[in-house]
Amino acid sequence: MIAYKLIRSNRKSVGIRIETDGSLVVRAPKGIERFEIDKMVKKQEAWIEEKRAAFRAFDAAHPSNTIPYLGKNYITVEQDIDDIELKGDRIFIPKGYDTICWLKSEASRILSERMKYYATAVNLFPKRAKLSNARSKWGSCSSKRSINLSWRLIFCPLSVIDYVIVHELCHIVHMNHSAAFWEKVESVLPKYKQEREWLKENARLLDMYS
Ligand SMILES: [Zn+2]
Repeated sequence: MIAYKLIRSNRKSVGIRIETDGSLVVRAPKGIERFEIDKMVKKQEAWIEEKRAAFRAFDAAHPSNTIPYLGKNYITVEQDIDDIELKGDRIFIPKGYDTICWLKSEASRILSERMKYYATAVNLFPKRAKLSNARSKWGSCSSKRSINLSWRLIFCPLSVIDYVIVHELCHIVHMNHSAAFWEKVESVLPKYKQEREWLKENARLLDMYS
């Protein structure tokens, strides 16, 4: 039997969640019996294992001495220098430097550049665009045409950043994920499905440096 932490509440269905450390949390309605929950967890065993393996692979690919930047993982090296430098597979960081602050300012610079480019290309302009710290999504667009983009997009390849920007811009005309919406996205980025897949596989980047 797979071990899990059980949280009972007034919810109506059973929810299974794998935390980033691989542990399992099951949320269940108060009335349901323990053996029923066990049975449901057992049924999901293959999916749970698959998820855990993906987490382990992600951890192995992102050791704590590295920083992802524009889709590439750089090994961090502290040095007696004035400014951050990228060389080969290394990122040289001045001693005592606030790396997160640098990542955020890079995000701000690159995302606003790409936003300007694509807004003009598709002729859709947000009223407001700003960086967010959200850990649940890469981007969002409100009915008031206000676009939020996660600063953690700086971890993603440029093609993925472009996809998220185009996705949110297209919400200005389609406030849903209808066929018409996806057609619009595809008309700008014919290979957007690749980028969407990348985001799914790398969803944990949304949770880094929190
Ligand atoms: Zn959307």
